Amino acid sequence: MLTLEDIFKSFKLPLTEKRKKLIAEAYEFAESAHDGQKRKSGENYIQHSIATAITLAKIGMGSKTVAAGLLHDVPEDTAVTLSELEKNFGKEIANIIDGITKLGKIKLRASREEYFLENLRKMFLAMAADIRVVIIKLADRLHNMRTLRYLPPEKQQRIARETMEIYVPIANRLGIGEIKEQLEDLALQYLNPRDYENVKKLRTENYQKGEKYLKQAIKELKKELKKSGVPVIDIYGRAKHLYSLSLKLKRYDMDIARIYDLVAVRIIVPEVADCYEALGIVHKKYHPMVGRIKDYISLPKSNGYQSIHTTIFGPDGKILEVQIRTQKMHDEAEFGIAAHWIYSEREKMGWKKFIFKPHGDKVPKKELEWVRQLRDWQKEIGRDDEEFVEGLKIDFFKNHIFAFTPLGDIIDLPEEATPIDFAYAIHSEVGNNATGAKADGKIVTLDHQIKNGQVIEILTSKENKTPSRDWLGFVKTSKAKSRIKRELKKEEGY
Ligand code: MN
Repeated sequence: MLTLEDIFKSFKLPLTEKRKKLIAEAYEFAESAHDGQKRKSGENYIQHSIATAITLAKIGMGSKTVAAGLLHDVPEDTAVTLSELEKNFGKEIANIIDGITKLGKIKLRASREEYFLENLRKMFLAMAADIRVVIIKLADRLHNMRTLRYLPPEKQQRIARETMEIYVPIANRLGIGEIKEQLEDLALQYLNPRDYENVKKLRTENYQKGEKYLKQAIKELKKELKKSGVPVIDIYGRAKHLYSLSLKLKRYDMDIARIYDLVAVRIIVPEVADCYEALGIVHKKYHPMVGRIKDYISLPKSNGYQSIHTTIFGPDGKILEVQIRTQKMHDEAEFGIAAHWIYSEREKMGWKKFIFKPHGDKVPKKELEWVRQLRDWQKEIGRDDEEFVEGLKIDFFKNHIFAFTPLGDIIDLPEEATPIDFAYAIHSEVGNNATGAKADGKIVTLDHQIKNGQVIEILTSKENKTPSRDWLGFVKTSKAKSRIKRELKKEEGY
């Protein structure tokens, strides 16, 4: 059973008396409002509120957001009204909760595509009004997914699908890997239980086999880094989460031996320069695999992800991936936009203790693209809803389409994108080996213009195929273009 104390313990920000008081008050208010109500699991309702608050505290949200998390179901599910909440907790918290209540009133539409866009629009709309509304919805959904087994199977399917289609992409866009990965694994468990069990079993077996080498590599690398004077904040092994592993396994004919990042050694260092120094030391100790060094620090991924990845021949020649990043890059990968709260808060408080000094100690001027985008959306507050949705359609949905993989993963593409763009968006190898495509189950040509909401399946050949030069004539994404050109060059023997 979760308690108020558990929320305090999960708090990432310094817990001042003022914050503690606010959270304790919100807790007591929520507990008495939900008194006598039970969840489907048979637990007291307040358990759901606490679990939501804990997730928010863990990803580094402030005390107001955590308090709103505790109170988020009060106006919807109890006799207490919003104005009573406002009287007790002020306008800011009441507004957040109002946003959550409104967002909860999404109606199911007949057509799947429409339903998806409607949901996505509402999410973005709420985000524009206050991003905290959406972050609380994510934390709320995480606990609902964790207790999904208590609902009837039909509801489980609907909620799991909605999680994969709406909540996962939003968590991804906000960069909150910590929530995104948990949601994906939980949804997979219901949407494709056979896959889930298979992948879980495969991962456990292989993890056990590799554990010895992983531990040895960590020990050795620790020693070498220390000897060379590279400061290390943390070094540990991480297992790939199940959903991304299941996607990767499908691309590799379920051959787990070909997946090199099943477990990875993660090295967290203070400064960017330390990352490159650490990379040198890793490579001096263990031979790197050719063509597998990825510098996402100089060239961040489109969602802003930064790290250096390299694949090495570790102890006994065992293949291992090593990921090197600063604390700040790590926090941004795990907590996304919430990390910005943490870092700005740290500055205000002059507090250095809870996170090792990150490079520069300041949020860099060149902020991530999504932060800028969200800022722009936030400027829209105060505009009439209708008008704003129109604006969103133009700004955000213009030149954008969303297509689905057969597993329900969403691929964000420019308008008029083709199955080849889709294939390269999944993985270069899928692109290179593409031989045909299906849209909503029907065979289409490779230059087919994908429509919003279509499920696209890429047919690939097992032989090592090369892309066709003709593809360059119709692909829309620069990613596909550059990968095709690169592959053709290789073929011509440059
Ligand atoms: Mn809830």
